[in-house]
Amino acid sequence: MSYDPNNVFAKILRKEIPCKIVHETEHALAFHDVHPQAPYHVLVIPKGAFVSFDDFTEQAPVDMVVGFFRAVGETARILGVEADGYRVISNIGDHGGQEVPHFHVHIAAGRPLGPILNVIP
Ligand code: AMP
Repeated sequence: MSYDPNNVFAKILRKEIPCKIVHETEHALAFHDVHPQAPYHVLVIPKGAFVSFDDFTEQAPVDMVVGFFRAVGETARILGVEADGYRVISNIGDHGGQEVPHFHVHIAAGRPLGPILNVIP
């Protein structure tokens, strides 16, 4: 799948759409999900044109991959959720339920989150 520069997260990176920033680095931007599904629900996106986890880990420069995943951990610590625990999720493609075609991970925390998959149709 080719990258759509008009996806909502690309617009957030270009500051065409506002977001509530939690953390920002050279390689990543973390911001609150607009429809939180847990007491803490933050998205972390790389500052580059990557569609999915698969695309990012194959195509991104190594320093960006390292910087991105460091920023995910830093974001969890900024939220203060590392002691009680949290979940990192990345939805990929159609079967993964990915809605926004810019690679991102969700950080969910703030209560026991239950099984990884709540519904298997
Ligand atoms: P996914 O299904 O993994 O692609 O999740 C996309 C997430 O992006 C959803 O949880 C949405 O609530 C969230 N989202 C969509 N638009 C925005 C936005 N403008 N600001 C923050 N979060 C958003």
